Amino acid sequence: MQNEENNVMEKIVSLAKRRGFIFQGSEIYGGLAGAWDYGHLGAELLNNIKSSWWKKFVSDREDMYGIRAAILMRSEVWEASGHVAGFADPMTECAKCHHRFRTDQLDAEKTDGGMKCPDCGGALGESRQFNMMFSTKIGAADDTAATVYLRPETAQGIFVNFKNTVDAYHPKLPFGMAQIGKAFRNEITPRDFIFRSREFEQMEIEYYIRPETWEVQFEYWQNEMADWMKSVGMDMSKVHVLDVAPEDLAHYSKRTVDFEFDYPFGKKELFGLAYRGSFDLTNHKLDYHDEETGENIVPHVIEPSFGVDRAFLALMISAYTEDEMNGETRAYLKLAPHIAPVLAAVSPLLRNKPELVEKSRAVFSALKKEFGRIAYDDNGNIGKRYRRQDEIGTPFCIVIDFDTLGENPANLDTVTIRHRDTGNQERVAIAELITFIKSKITA
Ligand code: ATP
Repeated sequence: MQNEENNVMEKIVSLAKRRGFIFQGSEIYGGLAGAWDYGHLGAELLNNIKSSWWKKFVSDREDMYGIRAAILMRSEVWEASGHVAGFADPMTECAKCHHRFRTDQLDAEKTDGGMKCPDCGGALGESRQFNMMFSTKIGAADDTAATVYLRPETAQGIFVNFKNTVDAYHPKLPFGMAQIGKAFRNEITPRDFIFRSREFEQMEIEYYIRPETWEVQFEYWQNEMADWMKSVGMDMSKVHVLDVAPEDLAHYSKRTVDFEFDYPFGKKELFGLAYRGSFDLTNHKLDYHDEETGENIVPHVIEPSFGVDRAFLALMISAYTEDEMNGETRAYLKLAPHIAPVLAAVSPLLRNKPELVEKSRAVFSALKKEFGRIAYDDNGNIGKRYRRQDEIGTPFCIVIDFDTLGENPANLDTVTIRHRDTGNQERVAIAELITFIKSKITA
């Protein structure tokens, strides 16, 4: 079982590179650990994940305010939030090979209770706290330079704009603020492909509530998070809710739930939901003036937090499928139409027949104008094109053949649509194509 699982991970990593979803960062110079570059298909898939999130949690709601804060933030922000003092992981270094490890991730059995290096067997040094924030200097002259931090979470960019948002829009409680953006953590051991990187993306919501409503709101947001996961096609049989034990909770949190996912390398965190009380607004000395009652209160906060890259990985794992079709094994990504990087591929049955090519280009242009994520594929024979599109998760392959041109008059101006998951084909009129495809996009 373990081997099979490792195998799946290898296949996904290899597919991701071969088909241009994800490359190692700075690869031609030997790679940069913990940094990943998304190629065209990866960038499209990421955009679809983010758009679906933004639509559900921002555009479709009346009580949510989007924000796009700067990545560089003043050090005072991170002093107030507690990150300068406490955003650290325990680290130990091998005296012999100098590899560094997260003390809390060492396998006690393989490391003699955390004393021996898992790589070379050398002696591990004493554990010390390592702050994971990346810092840099602002300004040209060194002496006047001020330390600023690359944000390790998008959340603080939201909190520091609480007052600006309230002053600009006068929202009534409860309301939320949402942000999608990069976060940076100097992870001691980046690993497991894009699961733990040093540069990654987050989608976070800070939802401001009256304190007495926290339990109802917590439950509501937990359901909302699960609804979104289902809607993007996450394999929910692999998702588990872990109620973080009281002794493991951050001191300000009354409740935290981790959504864990069965990755091939183990059950690990996918997303988190935390009840943060008034911790952040109090630290930034912010409060809320209720214009109706005249009172000033410090709202409490429910925080649903999503990692974009972990969502990407969990979706690839959920979608990766192998089956037999026409006596051959095939691998394909069973991605939902609104998430797949390519929605449909248009092909002429034969690429050396100008009438077919002309018609195909016309169908392609019309669909491309409407949907954007449309490919034109005339490489190799039809069977090969299907395999290639299956592998990247394209739900529909549209083929223009001689019937389209009227060889069989009953089929004039119709095309073949071949469905990725079943291999089934049906004929659809060109005039109906846009409506047909739209009807298949369910979210
Ligand atoms: P972990 O315990 O795995 O380090 P965390 O509890 O520190 O994660 P949070 O601080 O709650 O993570 O961050 C919110 C979300 O950001 C996580 O649920 C995850 O989806 C994502 N995330 C956090 N760290 C990373 C990372 N190094 N690489 C990719 N995504 C990350």
